[in-house]
Amino acid sequence: MDDIVNAKGDPSATAVTPASAQAGTFNAPPTSQLRTTAEPEVNVFVASQRGDVNVIRELIESGRARATDRDEQNITPLHWAAINAQVAACRYLLEQGAEVDALGGDLVATPMQWAARGGYLYVIQLLIAHNADPNIKDSQGYNTLHLVTHSSSIMPLLYLLHQPISVDERDTSGHTALMWAAYQGDALSVDLLLKHGANTNTRDDSGLTPLHWAVVRGNKVCIRRLIEKGAEIGAKDNDGRTARDMAVELKSLGAWKRALEEGGFTEDGTKRKKPLSERNSKFVIFILPTIFLWLIFMTLTILPWYTGIILAMAEFFGMHHIVTRVLLNRPTYTDSVTGSPYFAGIIFGSMVWLAYVWATRLLQQVESHPFTHLMFALSYGICAYNFFRAMTLDPGTCPAPTSDAELKSIIEDLASEGRLNGQTFCIQCMARKPLRSKHCRICDKCIARSDHHCPWVWNCVGINNHRQFLIFVTSLVLGIIYFDYLTYAYFSAITDIPVPVPSCLLPASICSLTAVDTFLFSVSVWATLQLIWTIVLLASQYWQVARQMTTLEVSNLGRYGFMGGRGGASLGTQMGHRHHGNHMHGVSPTVSSSESSSEEGLAGEATPTLGHAHTHSHGHGHGNKGMCAGCGSGFLMHLLGLDRFTSGKAANGLARAGKAANPFDLGFAANCKDFWTTGRELGVEYERLYEVPIEGFREARRRREADGDDHELGGSGRKSLRQTLMMGLGLGSSGTRRGGYEPVSQV
Ligand SMILES: [Zn+2]
Ligand SMILES: [Zn+2]
Repeated sequence: MDDIVNAKGDPSATAVTPASAQAGTFNAPPTSQLRTTAEPEVNVFVASQRGDVNVIRELIESGRARATDRDEQNITPLHWAAINAQVAACRYLLEQGAEVDALGGDLVATPMQWAARGGYLYVIQLLIAHNADPNIKDSQGYNTLHLVTHSSSIMPLLYLLHQPISVDERDTSGHTALMWAAYQGDALSVDLLLKHGANTNTRDDSGLTPLHWAVVRGNKVCIRRLIEKGAEIGAKDNDGRTARDMAVELKSLGAWKRALEEGGFTEDGTKRKKPLSERNSKFVIFILPTIFLWLIFMTLTILPWYTGIILAMAEFFGMHHIVTRVLLNRPTYTDSVTGSPYFAGIIFGSMVWLAYVWATRLLQQVESHPFTHLMFALSYGICAYNFFRAMTLDPGTCPAPTSDAELKSIIEDLASEGRLNGQTFCIQCMARKPLRSKHCRICDKCIARSDHHCPWVWNCVGINNHRQFLIFVTSLVLGIIYFDYLTYAYFSAITDIPVPVPSCLLPASICSLTAVDTFLFSVSVWATLQLIWTIVLLASQYWQVARQMTTLEVSNLGRYGFMGGRGGASLGTQMGHRHHGNHMHGVSPTVSSSESSSEEGLAGEATPTLGHAHTHSHGHGHGNKGMCAGCGSGFLMHLLGLDRFTSGKAANGLARAGKAANPFDLGFAANCKDFWTTGRELGVEYERLYEVPIEGFREARRRREADGDDHELGGSGRKSLRQTLMMGLGLGSSGTRRGGYEPVSQV
């Protein structure tokens, strides 16, 4: 297996060192002729490596060098500029007539192939724009697609897949880009190649399929993706080995088994069957907690407390077992529960039994509190209705391109603006990613102004159902408080108190109460327990609304700053605009993904920024992060929404929230209004919000108000109001050229 690694020539080892270039005396002018600004040994090759456009210009204009010159290794200045990600130098050299597909170096490669090895998106984009041919192969048989795959950079790969190049092209040993990605364990690249139609069952010269290569690295996500996309599990190589045989041989059987398990496959690669149809499972999972809660409350009522509690806990576990291991047929107790209506079912069941005890006991016995009864009924009605709405409304799905041509133009536009990265483009949805949106792994779509995925309402909470969610939680808290008050009144009114059982360990008065009506007592204790997390949730929600922030932004603030940018970085940098200067290359505006993949705990919430060359390290963790929010001790905290206060980074985020500049913050009143009107106060449509006005929303709003008197806003309806406001902001709904707001500067 190692030969394949060695075959992957490393250009930096053979070519890129400045010393090798400086050693070249080719075309170096006599020292006496040089002006003091240029060092004696600087030639056009060294200047190209450094991206020193001024020196290159001086050399070319004075006739001491040409863009088509070659050094002693037959390498052109364009090669040197390309491999060092010097976009400006590349551009200048091309303008000066450099040959775009010049072949040079030991590997007889083009400048674009050199750039591809480093995954330099903007160099590749520039060269493609100058008609570079991505299909040329170097002496190792690699074309640009193979080389970009080697670099593990996801955005250059995406860009290249939309160029005229065959996704299944083979190198000299018959390897396709998919095999390389699988071999490297790049789950994201594998995913992307599969999305672009890569063949899962091609064979290389040794008869190995992409699945065999995935087993070599033993990345379970790659293995799983390939099987899901129809890779033949029993395919044999020229020696008659299947991928599983190879896994045994290479000791990666664990990864192989986990991949099958997590993908819901049996050993032979068929889908594990669930006992019920998809629809019926969901229905049963939603209803089951209602039945089990009744069982638990009855158990506590009938049996003495010491056996009752044990049996109740066993019943709870039984319910959990039925849902996870039987109905969902999953190998673990936590896996994929958040994607099912299980937790929403628990809320539903609790509400059913709360209404039951209220109607059968409190309403009849506690007659002296008509106002409290009314308030409880009102809260209950509002709560139930908004629970249903939050569950069933679309949380705010972001639009995806409707055709390949539209997708290509989006990618092309973003790349030419120098900001094709994980913040502006979602490679899961293959669509532009609006600001403040997030791709939810459970819902598998990008949600506009995403707050969080809430298993309790079995839905994401986004722009479209955030209001309903907040009303639901508010009325839930109020309802429980009224209920507790009524329960208190009910028990206080009881005169005929039985003598407490001697085995009861609680204070005598409470023991007596439980004996009076254990069912009611259990329900109210259960309801009161819910107060703990709902109050915490509610307080943080209100605080966030007032600060114009989402849960996602708060938890990521310490790590990324607002809108997924680097904490404390200027808005321009966060937006991924290009800057002048020699340092500019494909990776500068993005956060290192290796940095983010080292984060634990809230990683499921992290905004992945994928433009970086080390994306593969991200890819590893990615597949299980979303689910891993559901393992271990973090599970409960995560469900309760308390983890944002416990994670170190999150606490840091809260502390910094006061200092960092939030471009969406318009002040308390306007923030609340904006929340309620889903973006009207800011004048934005969050589903299609791709830009922040350079002068900021506050200034844009001030200006809008200044000339707002000219417009008749009243009575024209929300849509036209929105249009007016958006035109004022230069945010036309067509959204292509952001009228007036160009990126900071183009290189
Ligand atoms: Zn997405
Ligand atoms: Zn979701």
